[in-house]
Amino acid sequence: MTSTQTETDECTWLCDYCATCAVGPDCSRLDVIVEPDEIEWRGGAVVTARYRCGCGHEWTCRWSSELLHPQRGI
Ligand SMILES: [Zn+2]
Repeated sequence: MTSTQTETDECTWLCDYCATCAVGPDCSRLDVIVEPDEIEWRGGAVVTARYRCGCGHEWTCRWSSELLHPQRGI
């Protein structure tokens, strides 16, 4: 485990899991976290994040743009 991990990393909250690596026999979900390679927001309610894992698997995930506002209240 690396020592420095900043929770304020702007992409950390958009991390997703590589579905290909996650089914590997020696992998736990935490081993296959991938940060978005590209984030696309066209001003609407949905943010599209594009992921590219080291294994070659690529996928996209759509997030509500509400997630972009950490201080949106409870
Ligand atoms: Zn992978």
